[in-house]
Amino acid sequence: MQSTYFMIKPEIVAAGEQQIGAILAMVNRSGFRITRLAMRQLDRALVEDFYGEHRGKPFYDSLVEYITSGPVVCVRLEREDAVAALRELIGATNPAEAATGTVRDLYGTSIGENAVHASANADDAARELGLIFGD
Ligand code: ATP
Ligand code: MG
Repeated sequence: MQSTYFMIKPEIVAAGEQQIGAILAMVNRSGFRITRLAMRQLDRALVEDFYGEHRGKPFYDSLVEYITSGPVVCVRLEREDAVAALRELIGATNPAEAATGTVRDLYGTSIGENAVHASANADDAARELGLIFGD
């Protein structure tokens, strides 16, 4: 069993409970267990740390603005091969390139507003779960 970090981004939370519920149902249907769940407004320092690998890139400032623009839904998920399975479920970073039926295909707007986050690998999952939940 492996853990990973999943996050529903602010534009989806702002759109209301229907989209949050639909996305969590997709995750659940894919065999994940939700072992932590919280709606939170993340502060700038935390988000700068969370997305620290992107510091200095052209989109970094707008990424930090976006993720701090409103509450997000923070989720710890467990499943066999959870990291890879969740990345497959969410689809490519750019919703225009995301496979049909993935979360970003169905709910993403643009590469900048792409609905959800999922940890890229097991080390990132551990780091992100530590930052968000103190696990
Ligand atoms: P995430 O880490 O949010 O799950 P990802 O791993 O698919 O996304 P990353 O390369 O880690 O993609 O980029 C982090 C986030 O930065 C993206 O989800 C997106 O919101 C934003 N981003 C990435 N590339 C661009 C870009 N070229 N222009 C605008 N925003 C971008
Ligand atoms: Mg990433």
